[in-house]
Amino acid sequence: MSSGDIFSETQAILARAITPDTDPALAEAMKQILAAAQVSRWQRYDEYALSLVPATDADMKQLRDKFRACQNIPACSLGWYDLLQATFQILEERWPDREWQTTDIKEKFGGLRIYWAGDYPYAEDVFLDAAELLSEHICEECGAPGESRAGGWIRTLCDQHAEQKR
Ligand SMILES: [Zn+2]
Repeated sequence: MSSGDIFSETQAILARAITPDTDPALAEAMKQILAAAQVSRWQRYDEYALSLVPATDADMKQLRDKFRACQNIPACSLGWYDLLQATFQILEERWPDREWQTTDIKEKFGGLRIYWAGDYPYAEDVFLDAAELLSEHICEECGAPGESRAGGWIRTLCDQHAEQKR
């Protein structure tokens, strides 16, 4: 695997997600989450097949068992698994004692939505906002850089998956 692949993907997503108007704390949170998400994603690179192995339904379900704050099996496609895994991992490492839980995790209007209840201060809320914003630039099917595709149902997809949906 080439580290250039990770770098170019990461740059493509950040170039779309962060604008000059983006709040600095939000931009920083997006960079941290995406860096961790890309590590999670590229750990599934198959050296023999020379391709990325997709996340599975089992991976997605496991989020609920792995992270105390995650109380739902996310109702979205598997391309956002690494984004969710990275977000919960960062939140749990930084603020291990907080009492908050998700109440719903789903796709809406092509973006990720994370609903929660409990003790959840602003500094952490920025990370959930960052995850939701990043999802608008990550293919919900495969995790590659993507963009919002209009249609009967708005979805965020890479070029390849947008083509398959036609
Ligand atoms: Zn895709």
